Amino acid sequence: MNALTDQFGRRIEYLRISVTDRCNFRCLYCMPAEGLEWLPKRDILTYEEITAIVAQLAPLGLRRLRITGGEPTIRPDLVSLVRMLRAVPGIEDIALSTNGVRLPEMASALADAGLDRVNMSADSLRADRIASIARRNLGFDPRRAALAAEQTGLTPVKINMVVMRGINDDEVEDFARLTLEHAWHVRFIELMPVGDMRALTWDHVVPSDEILSRISALGSLTADSGPERGNGPAAYYRFSGAPGCVGVITPMTHTYCGSCNRVRLTADGRLRTCLYGDHEVNLRDPLRAGENLQPLYVQALADKPREHHLLQMQVGGLRALSQVGG
Ligand code: SAM
Ligand code: SF4
Repeated sequence: MNALTDQFGRRIEYLRISVTDRCNFRCLYCMPAEGLEWLPKRDILTYEEITAIVAQLAPLGLRRLRITGGEPTIRPDLVSLVRMLRAVPGIEDIALSTNGVRLPEMASALADAGLDRVNMSADSLRADRIASIARRNLGFDPRRAALAAEQTGLTPVKINMVVMRGINDDEVEDFARLTLEHAWHVRFIELMPVGDMRALTWDHVVPSDEILSRISALGSLTADSGPERGNGPAAYYRFSGAPGCVGVITPMTHTYCGSCNRVRLTADGRLRTCLYGDHEVNLRDPLRAGENLQPLYVQALADKPREHHLLQMQVGGLRALSQVGG
């Protein structure tokens, strides 16, 4: 069946699945340093339940999945989930969003289980700064993690950097340079006012136009269609002759709601049709009661909002991306 469309004609074929609200990092822009309350284990969907939900939605046009969190690689035996999702008829593409810490040890098993590709977060290339932004020193080496993904065929490798003024914005050129040497696609993300940002203010947001103008000092940049798979809301550019692309994701200065093709499943089984706001439908309890989820899904898509209102919101007024599966 073709993908279902919502009331605004957007084809919905992409589901982001959060498998945990927990993380081994505490990034400044995502989680508070302490005092977090985690979901109780009984509230979290099992891998069998996640797979059952995907199997019910695939006949309604779901084609592409992204496994995210929190940090998905810290949930035990993630490889099994990948294998189970790979076996669902109709699913064409499975990607993973990760902070990359465990990629060197896990990339090969994930690829063998049927994972197609990874997006990796990296906010600095300097060990001391990585530890201070993540508030944890786990010895994360972004280059080593990206190489591990590339060598096991989890490509195209995309690297996401959240740019923060005065914290890591002096590294945008270094990140852009990675695309001159590797077929890695570096995306600069504008900081968003979600979750607990006591450590940050609006002054830390660096508009994407400023990022692009800074990196264009490295060479001539041309607009590009980007990596061939999984293009979401990024606008891509390429330095002449470079194997990789640079991209900008601009939730703060431009919205891309008009082409939004995605919905989200939280770790506790809520379907969210918009990243922002509070449109949520509980799929877990009906699933556990043995009900058919398809009518609930069809109704949720019919109610998907036209656009978000992020720019009108106050800092701290939204759930953190780690809770909703960013
Ligand atoms: N733990 C994984 C990771 O870090 O890639 C997956 C989950 S994380 C919530 C998904 C993405 O959301 C990451 O690229 C992260 O940088 C981004 N993110 C989280 N909070 C953000 C914020 N306040 N502004 C912009 N991006 C944010
Ligand atoms: Fe963890 Fe990812 Fe949030 Fe950082 S952005 S705290 S790695 S979930």
